[in-house]
Amino acid sequence: MPARPLDDVLLELQELALATVAPQAQRIDQAGEWPETSLRALQKAGMGGLVVPEEKGGLGHGLYGLMRACETLGQHCASTAMCYGMHAVGSAVIAAKATREQTQLYLEPIVRGRHLTTLALSEPGSGSHFYLPEMRIERLARGYRLDGTKSFVTNGSHADSYVMSGVSEAGATPGVFSMLVVPGDSPGMEWSAEWQGSGMRGNSSRNVDLRGVELGPHALLGEEGEQAWYVFNVVTPFFLTAMAGTYLGVAQGALDETRQHLQTRRHAHSGQTLAQSALLQHRIGSLWGMLERARRLCYYAAEQGDSHGPDAMPAILSSKAEAADAAVTIANECLTLAGGIGYARGSRFDRHLRDARAAHVMAPTTDLLRTWAGRWLLGEPLLSG
Ligand SMILES: Cc1cc2nc3c(=O)[nH]c(=O)nc-3n(C[C@H](O)[C@H](O)[C@H](O)COP(=O)(O)OP(=O)(O)OC[C@H]3O[C@@H](n4cnc5c(N)ncnc54)[C@H](O)[C@@H]3O)c2cc1C
Repeated sequence: MPARPLDDVLLELQELALATVAPQAQRIDQAGEWPETSLRALQKAGMGGLVVPEEKGGLGHGLYGLMRACETLGQHCASTAMCYGMHAVGSAVIAAKATREQTQLYLEPIVRGRHLTTLALSEPGSGSHFYLPEMRIERLARGYRLDGTKSFVTNGSHADSYVMSGVSEAGATPGVFSMLVVPGDSPGMEWSAEWQGSGMRGNSSRNVDLRGVELGPHALLGEEGEQAWYVFNVVTPFFLTAMAGTYLGVAQGALDETRQHLQTRRHAHSGQTLAQSALLQHRIGSLWGMLERARRLCYYAAEQGDSHGPDAMPAILSSKAEAADAAVTIANECLTLAGGIGYARGSRFDRHLRDARAAHVMAPTTDLLRTWAGRWLLGEPLLSG
């Protein structure tokens, strides 16, 4: 049990979200602005080390803590939740088997709120099949040299380091790749144009070319050959959990605002609010049930993951898929229930729907997750290309 209980952390996060994150959400969406103020406030409050083990100075929370943190932020600003979540995933990957040098270089500044990291796995070539990187890693006498392109890197060009994947030979077995941490100021990194997403507009999910980027001997995470361990024990659970939490938050935000709208929108001809319509009462009740079903599965998945329970794998794989289905359906329905106000360009309902739509697109996509869960349940290999 971590020294600082999760309830205490979440209370502070909720206050910070209301005071700092929520007031900026609309501007971040409209301007496509990276949520710097909110992320710095989170770092200043000590949240940068949420999933870094206590013996390394962090708060020592696991998957359940990460899910709840992203959910709390996602209710107010999906981009902030995603940027924070990707930092947390990157820090969990670094922390998993950090050497003394990696602890000093990355984890200590992360827990002091001075270092932001992020996960950069996707590539233009393999697209949503993020476990098939083509980035080439060449071994040097003292270190490594990288050549390739990473795509859709959340926190792109703003992070202090990037957790990347690569292979030392072409055509490696799926899931067999090395993970390295790349300092953001490494010579040879060139960022593409600004991110212009339909939703998640504050993400700064940009592409980066790496041309002969040279890294020192401390860049490699873990030992050569244990990368499958990273993929299944750290990358997949933390990545999916951060995303599931974010989309639960988006759905909750949409539902809360819709309830408020229905309670205050009053028709002149009847003198009644929309909340008094039996049909709309039924629809709100159904949406609440849908969200709560998804949330229970997601919380169960995170708890199973933290305790290495027997359902951990299918539950974690299903959690992001369930959260994605719930968020897209709920945000879409909420926009309908908010009528013309909801449909207005730049309305909060419009933003929630655009943010939610990223859920099915971001890898592992919903289709892939359902297939992987099925493969696991049927005893078939998860990664078959
Ligand atoms: C907002 C946002 C933030 C992101 N942040 C990050 C990040 O921080 N780090 C990171 O590494 N990546 C990130 N990504 C990348 C993301 O996870 C995906 O890798 C990327 O969106 C894949 O896009 P693509 O067009 O290449 O997909 P494609 O691979 O072209 O897939 C397109 C569609 O085809 C489907 N499909 C693909 N292959 C098959 C198949 N064999 N059978 C059936 N269906 C298939 C997919 O499910 C998908 O629906 C982000 C993406 C977005 C949109």
